[in-house]
Amino acid sequence: MSAKSKLNARSEAEAKARLEELASLMLQADEAYHNRDAPVLSDADYDALKAENQQLEQAFPHLVREDSASSRVGIAPSSGFSKVKHSVSMLSLGNAFDAEDVASFVASIQRFLGVSDDIEFTAEPKIDGLSLALRYENGQLVLAATRGDGKTGEDVTANARTIKSVPQRIETDIDILEVRGEVYMHHKDFEALNETQAKSGQKIFANPRNAAAGSLRQLDSKITSKRPLMFFAYSLGEISRPLGETQSETISAFEALGFSTNPLTKICANVDELIAHYSDIQNSRPDLGYDIDGVVYKVNSLKLQDRLGFRNNSPRWAIAHKFPAETAVTELEAIEIQVGRTGALSPVARLKPVTVGGVVVSNATLHNEDYIAGHDGNGAPIRGGVDIRVGDWVTVYRAGDVIPKVKDVVLARRPEGAKPYVFPSICPECQSAVVRLDGEAVARCTGGLVCPAQTVEKLKHFVSRAAFDIEGLGAKQVQAFFQDGWVKEPADIFTLRSRLGSGGLQQLQNMEGWGEVSAEKLFDAIDDKRKIELNRLIFALGIRHVGEVGALLLAQSYENWQDFHDAVVAAGGHDGPAWDALNEIDGIGPTMAASLVDALSDAQFSQVVDRLIPHLDILVVESAGDQQSVVAGKTIVFTGTLEQMTRAEAKARATSLGAKVSGSVSSKTDYLVAGPGAGSKLEKAKSAGVATLSEDEWLELIGR
Ligand SMILES: [Zn+2]
Repeated sequence: MSAKSKLNARSEAEAKARLEELASLMLQADEAYHNRDAPVLSDADYDALKAENQQLEQAFPHLVREDSASSRVGIAPSSGFSKVKHSVSMLSLGNAFDAEDVASFVASIQRFLGVSDDIEFTAEPKIDGLSLALRYENGQLVLAATRGDGKTGEDVTANARTIKSVPQRIETDIDILEVRGEVYMHHKDFEALNETQAKSGQKIFANPRNAAAGSLRQLDSKITSKRPLMFFAYSLGEISRPLGETQSETISAFEALGFSTNPLTKICANVDELIAHYSDIQNSRPDLGYDIDGVVYKVNSLKLQDRLGFRNNSPRWAIAHKFPAETAVTELEAIEIQVGRTGALSPVARLKPVTVGGVVVSNATLHNEDYIAGHDGNGAPIRGGVDIRVGDWVTVYRAGDVIPKVKDVVLARRPEGAKPYVFPSICPECQSAVVRLDGEAVARCTGGLVCPAQTVEKLKHFVSRAAFDIEGLGAKQVQAFFQDGWVKEPADIFTLRSRLGSGGLQQLQNMEGWGEVSAEKLFDAIDDKRKIELNRLIFALGIRHVGEVGALLLAQSYENWQDFHDAVVAAGGHDGPAWDALNEIDGIGPTMAASLVDALSDAQFSQVVDRLIPHLDILVVESAGDQQSVVAGKTIVFTGTLEQMTRAEAKARATSLGAKVSGSVSSKTDYLVAGPGAGSKLEKAKSAGVATLSEDEWLELIGR
């Protein structure tokens, strides 16, 4: 029976029941996913539910539920809204968790700017809602967009127009003005909404943030208009003319234009004032009437913000100082060992389920052997030296959007006879020896490709979101394919169709969890990803220490696979010009360089790579930064003392203009920028005929 006829065969009552089931299943999946607490569904399963939901909703439009996943923030953006590309990215902020983090954040700004004087900041509550960008053209609201992934959001203009604190038009002579802020819901409105929902048999929202998100992302703006949403304005997006010279002037201008701004926003002259204001906000938290989860600090001067710029997609000039995490006490039922793709043995606590900050937690990380034993690598006590035992009552917490952690042991409740935990000395998956190198906290299985756990985890990593991201081929499917012997290494994914032959599709359809549609789609999805960006490929290889950012830096530096591969192979001896060049890439440290070089020198691993590459069409990655600038694509070396800015600022500025910054002069160097005290590099540049610039000449060249 085809999917379509299955649908038609459903009675209305069946459809209604199934839609209710789907709403609840997908809500659970979304929550599990968003909290990264071990996703309960694979991508393929989630997509199948989504498709079923959509088909049912189309067949029975009068049964569409208000809590349907089609109108909620989910794993994938709803197809119900059109996409909006943000002209200025909506970035996320780095986090600080204590006063020490805040002090080092401020110090790093001073270092970057080369100043020792205090820098003025604004401090404002971090509203626990969702970000919204409002674009006004000639004073008229023309577009409202969600943050989405920061680059592309969703057009929710019709819904945003129903929010009372969002002005439809503003009195201004500025042509383009994009006002950003947070949409949120007051506690009392949230409770009243849930009461109404309960009375009419509709879904209860877990917290005000979910209610705000669900309301803003309603496909029917009539529903949104009935929801008590609020909006605080806090920053600018694209503008044709600034509103002032500082963040605080901008906020005042917002107020004058009729926006609500947060009354707890304050200018602070130094770290002490920031921390004092943080405490004040924390103390007033219970009485605010809406949820906040920390305090945001921003450099007040917009000129300094501009100089500081961005790093790894978050601004250097702002940080979110988070409030301490909520905790809960529960029983530790078991300790299990998971073997990761690099062989690392990770102990996981299996907990009696407990609610922490509105989410049910049943697993938590125990970090490593030392953490369980109650001392760090240097023998210093953790938790006062108390070890963690199966049967213990433990304190669990979630810090931000991360995996729950076990913090403390309630020693008074330790059961009699509880035994200290013995960390395994052989791999539970492949029985190979486990080794822990001196100075390392992590114990590793030495099984390598023999260890099925490592192989499967490597494959899961290969198809993960930031890597090949093949639709319909998630962690669960890869695991099943591995167990059936269909896919043992990445290259096998791309030869799957030809190896299975004409009967393959039928075989796949017969496997559990696959229907005709998903099976057909899988092969197309695999073919789609034969074209892959170099940074995704490098990340997908799963080399230790080479994360998403590292992979991007490498890809931007080498641009194509062949150059990258040749350079890494040439650096194999951890010595010589190729090794030096690799280490000189800004952001690539010696640890990453060594790990990369050693991985590609390994005979087995390089064979795996060699078998994969012929199946791919690897896309060149452009350098970061402005590709139109006069120094785009040029290689710059700075030497000597710079007088107008620090070396860090000079490098960041060059990178943002699309240049590559290197540490040593070579035949590839385009410009040497030499300040006073320049030594051997200047001589080398002169003898190699490399153009040499003074700092002033450099600034003139880049138009500053
Ligand atoms: Zn193993």
